[in-house]
Amino acid sequence: MSASILSLARSAPTARTAPAAPGAGAGTQPLVAAERVSRRFESGRVAAVVDVSLALAPGEYVALTGPSGCGKSTLLHLLGTLERPDSGAVRYRGTDCAGTDAAALRATRIGFVFQACHLIPTLSAVDNVELPMLETRWRAAERRRRALALLDAVGLADRGAHRPSQLSGGQRQRVAIARALANEPELVIADEPTGNLDSANAARCLALLADLRRARGLTLIVATHDAAVAAGADRIVRLRDGRIENERA
Ligand code: ADP
Ligand code: MG
Repeated sequence: MSASILSLARSAPTARTAPAAPGAGAGTQPLVAAERVSRRFESGRVAAVVDVSLALAPGEYVALTGPSGCGKSTLLHLLGTLERPDSGAVRYRGTDCAGTDAAALRATRIGFVFQACHLIPTLSAVDNVELPMLETRWRAAERRRRALALLDAVGLADRGAHRPSQLSGGQRQRVAIARALANEPELVIADEPTGNLDSANAARCLALLADLRRARGLTLIVATHDAAVAAGADRIVRLRDGRIENERA
């Protein structure tokens, strides 16, 4: 599934506390935590995620791996509040998301990157990056300045006026990464972000995510088949048949 872009752009950004060091250990409140979450589809016949507990410390980078159909996307959707669990809870900074305005949480705290970049084809790169900012408190000139700075950060300063069709696949995915950062999220959720890219562009996209995570203190979770993606993570979590099979640092 894909999140509606406009649903990612609802309320104003707020100040936030500085993130802890990557991989901050016991004693740190997780930024986001799934607690024994399960999600079934098709009237319960398909168990996509079964009794999974997974907590991400502020600043941590987790790779989520496992075969196709093992529940990676569903778990990311649960962590990102795009879906609600049938049982269990997802907590964001300790607060159960079931009792919160999930759309506002997504708009201000969470950036999503999907395998297909989902850019609006009729808009320029810079307009695509600005889109999530439209319903924030930023004024037009500030939105434009911020969008251009984000394009610069992803190495596309000279491509702002280009439409998606005028960009390569790797460039489009970098625009999508810039857009995911539009509202200064603290959590970035990327679902097979390199899945449509050749190996050179996949490596570039991955290095970019890792750099942005370090530079901005982001918490990052990436679902991937790509061993190179997983290798850069603080922790690798492997799913099988909807359950966590093993974890290693
Ligand atoms: P992955 O991302 O690891 O490939 P998914 O989370 O997409 O796995 O899917 C896990 C299981 O749940 C699969 O069997 C898939 O077919 C099923 N599933 C996922 N989303 C839906 C849905 N919206 N409706 C029905 N079945 C779904
Ligand atoms: Mg998937």
